[in-house]
Amino acid sequence: MTASRTTAEELRGAGLRVTAARVALLDTVRAGDHLGIEAIASGVRGRVGHVSLQAVYEALHALTAAGLIRRIEPAGSPPRFEGRVGDNHHHVVCRSCGVVADVDCAVGEAPCLAPSEDHGFSIGEAEVVYWGLCPACSIVHSSEHQ
Ligand SMILES: [Zn+2]
Ligand SMILES: [Zn+2]
Repeated sequence: MTASRTTAEELRGAGLRVTAARVALLDTVRAGDHLGIEAIASGVRGRVGHVSLQAVYEALHALTAAGLIRRIEPAGSPPRFEGRVGDNHHHVVCRSCGVVADVDCAVGEAPCLAPSEDHGFSIGEAEVVYWGLCPACSIVHSSEHQ
């Protein structure tokens, strides 16, 4: 259980109380690909048995606030969580099925996009969501319109 011990140490290092549910949640989010809350809850339960949805929400909040996981919430979609934090990557979201994929920062460092008008703000980051159709939905879409 080396991996779990490492995860527990990371939680402790971030100043968080270590619980089996939190360790399982961090492992689940990192192993997954922009998972939603339901998928995370079932992943956690698969690892440690029953955990209430309330505990899952509480752990997601604590780990997000500690910067161990990142919450993304494309407009009109339920929130998703990922373990890739600390870089300035963006996301491409399928308008049809909602699948999400990572897009590396075009420039390599925040804020990636220079605003045409900064209104005197010091700009820290740009959060870009590219919307489109994923390959699978593109095929369905084009076959429907032939
Ligand atoms: Zn799609
Ligand atoms: Zn991502």
